[in-house]
Amino acid sequence: MKKIFEYSAFQIVEKIRNGELSSLEYINALFDRIKEVDSKIHAYLTVAKDMALDEAKEIDEKANKGEHLGSLCGVGMAIKDNICTESIRTTCSSKSLSNFTPSYDATVIERIRKEDAIILGKTNMDEFAMGSSTEYSFFGPTINPYNDERVAGGSSGGSAAAVAISEATASLGSDTGGSVRCPASFCGVIGLKPTYGLVSRYGLIAYANSLEQISPIVKDVRDLAILLNCIAGHDERDSTSLKVVKDDYTRFIGNDIKGLKIGVPKELFGHGTNKHVLKRVWDAIHVLEDLGASYTEISLDSLEYALASYYIIANSEASSNLARYDGLRYGFRSDEVNDWSDTFSKNRREGFGQEVKRRIILGTFALSAGYYNKYYLKAQKVRTLIKKDFDKAFKKFDILASPTMPILPFKLGEKLKNPLEMYMCDLDTVPANLIGAPAISVPCGSYDGLPIGIQFIAQPFKEGSLIQVSYKLEESLQD
Ligand code: GLN
Repeated sequence: MKKIFEYSAFQIVEKIRNGELSSLEYINALFDRIKEVDSKIHAYLTVAKDMALDEAKEIDEKANKGEHLGSLCGVGMAIKDNICTESIRTTCSSKSLSNFTPSYDATVIERIRKEDAIILGKTNMDEFAMGSSTEYSFFGPTINPYNDERVAGGSSGGSAAAVAISEATASLGSDTGGSVRCPASFCGVIGLKPTYGLVSRYGLIAYANSLEQISPIVKDVRDLAILLNCIAGHDERDSTSLKVVKDDYTRFIGNDIKGLKIGVPKELFGHGTNKHVLKRVWDAIHVLEDLGASYTEISLDSLEYALASYYIIANSEASSNLARYDGLRYGFRSDEVNDWSDTFSKNRREGFGQEVKRRIILGTFALSAGYYNKYYLKAQKVRTLIKKDFDKAFKKFDILASPTMPILPFKLGEKLKNPLEMYMCDLDTVPANLIGAPAISVPCGSYDGLPIGIQFIAQPFKEGSLIQVSYKLEESLQD
């Protein structure tokens, strides 16, 4: 029998609505779970226990009075620490923001609260979301729940690990180049990066604006549909948020996939992909074939340049976004004050970790006069070519499939010596961000106890197709 803290969100909602479960009892069970496992996993940076328990009591009162209960009523959620939460510390895992408590909620937080979700706390991440392992956190790494010598993936490692080990029922992360899909894959849970512009970024502390989206992490596909229903939709406070008619994503659950056309881009199965990963991903594609889908191997030539283009664009945007953390406007301020320029340098030198500094330097270089055309502009042109290649593929195929990560969860410390090796891990995830398309990672088995994820990419606004195919796969693999 499942323990209370192991239930999926849709089960919690059902049980609270029909009076079978008290919200307070369930939230208490989650905090007991956090107490039991988090010293080992380190998924949380801050827990908001008092606030959460008060909210749970309010939900129980509403339930007793027969009042309306939202679509996420009582669901205990963990939030990545780069999403602003009113009165709850929000650090971006950086020394520079280690004392920052926002005075407002991000739009996504307002929306989940309106549907009666409960925020349990804030989760660990790579500093400013720059990384693929959660090792670049000022507060120390998150540990993979399946193997304590390995990373949880990143940068939303805390949000994925918390869901995987049932310290939260669902969570929010952010995905700039794979930061939700990577840890979802490494921790054996589901992560979806929505279409660019579908979910408001208001209140998300920016890393690379043109690439990132706030993204849900869940235990099963039904929960994903419910959570996406709640957070998707136009927000006038985010100028990049699109005015689209909101879909009901739950209507895709259970639809069959007969006739679905899957494209399999060979560049995303490239050299260096672990053979056990390849095997599980192909097995999953064959499962879909048995359910009536068909697949064709294809080639998208421009993908060869996706990673280089991504890192130039992401670092350029980061260097500009992070300029505000000078200790005067935002961020860490050193005690020692000399002249302005000295003080700014000192604040930034002490406030940022090594990887963040590396990216600011690379990004500033790529944007500087004389190099702008050669790097930034070129990277943007490559981005357009990649988009064109994908547009062509989507004329023939409903979705594309690939491994989420080319490798298994790696050992702690293994990739810290060589930043390029860390960047290479993002080979299969960055294309979806460059073209603004939705992409999901779904568990498709494991090797030696380590989870493996398959990635599906769809055309912008076709989250429904991703939910449809992912649900069918989940259902088949559970049998
Ligand atoms: N690993 C990628 C990077 O470091 C992606 C990060 C993210 O999606 N936030 O840029």
